[in-house]
Amino acid sequence: MELAMEDAPGEAGLARPGLRADDDYLTVTMLAAGLAGILARRPGNGGGARRSDGLLPAAWRAGYSRLWWRCQEQGVRAPDSDLDLLAWCASPFAAWPVELSLSAQDMQSCLVVGEELSGFAEQGARLAGADVEAEWTENRVYQALRTAALASGGDDDAEAERVYAVLRRRLIDHPVLTDLELKQWEREFALTDGSGQTYVRRLVDEAYVPRPAPGTYQYFRCPGCGNTVPDAGSPCGTAGCLADPAGEVSVPALAVVYEQHRATRRFIHDPGLVEARLLDALASQELAGRVRVTAYPGLDALDLLVEFLKNDGARVEVAETWGADAKDQESARLLARAFSWPGSPRCDRRFLVLPEHRAGQPGYVEDLRAELDGRMAGIEVVAEKRLISMVRAAARTAAR
Ligand SMILES: [Zn+2]
Repeated sequence: MELAMEDAPGEAGLARPGLRADDDYLTVTMLAAGLAGILARRPGNGGGARRSDGLLPAAWRAGYSRLWWRCQEQGVRAPDSDLDLLAWCASPFAAWPVELSLSAQDMQSCLVVGEELSGFAEQGARLAGADVEAEWTENRVYQALRTAALASGGDDDAEAERVYAVLRRRLIDHPVLTDLELKQWEREFALTDGSGQTYVRRLVDEAYVPRPAPGTYQYFRCPGCGNTVPDAGSPCGTAGCLADPAGEVSVPALAVVYEQHRATRRFIHDPGLVEARLLDALASQELAGRVRVTAYPGLDALDLLVEFLKNDGARVEVAETWGADAKDQESARLLARAFSWPGSPRCDRRFLVLPEHRAGQPGYVEDLRAELDGRMAGIEVVAEKRLISMVRAAARTAAR
């Protein structure tokens, strides 16, 4: 990794209004944001021209400065150059010479793994609005989804919502898509824009990267998340996936397969796995007629809306409405800081749902609740299986 060397930072960048001087989460978030900028400027990342100013990102300098002061307070030797600090970033915070006030779990995180941002750093960079390329792609994918849904729905809001939910789910179920499958999708959603291109192809152009595949496409697929891996022995890296060996699959293709763009995979597909599990569990026959489940209501205001139905023979009424948003993120503290709840749809109970692999980590739920406390009221933190059993129990009660 190439870096411009700089003098140790002074006080510049420290005194910013609204920042709590003792908040180490802010320091590591700034370093993460700075690292996102540094990595984006690496040659080969298409950002070569932007390097010409020779300056490191402002967030990096501000983070460095805050850390430098932390070191002074504790009488610890601060990193004496950017390269030195960069070396720190590759170690877990627990191994840093300076003591930071982070949760026990976050202390085990690094900012950089290999040549990439860690999951923790990615979360921090996005909280700071600094993972520009990923955010750009993600926004364009969501925009393409909305455009396709609204065009298909026309004046019919319910149809637009239905198409949105169907296409959104396709991105979770199809980390890899063949040109033959895309043709199928285009027959299903045949509406075209002014240039004669289907909206669904526009969506695929934003969310996927095409690869040549004449005849058939062979690849190794993780049985847990469905993502491609280089070989049977390689872990997929997706949170919650077990170490099951990848299986080799062979799919028919005319000429092209589409693999998800990194940002689609990291920010839509992978966190979507828990959403899909919830939706599938709640679509069960057992709940039919007693519960109405809507996926991604309000074009993604929430992940799911659960309406408990009261049927008195003459008509069906909604007795109670629950909303749920599933989150699969590495740091509970950063998740709570970024979490918000939409103004609509109106919900009697509001749930932040964690996949089992997060809820089961020691301290994760406690950290999340502690950080939400005082920030947001009335949010119930539950694990995915717990929510499903709560819905089943409430549906039984409502039906009586
Ligand atoms: Zn996997």
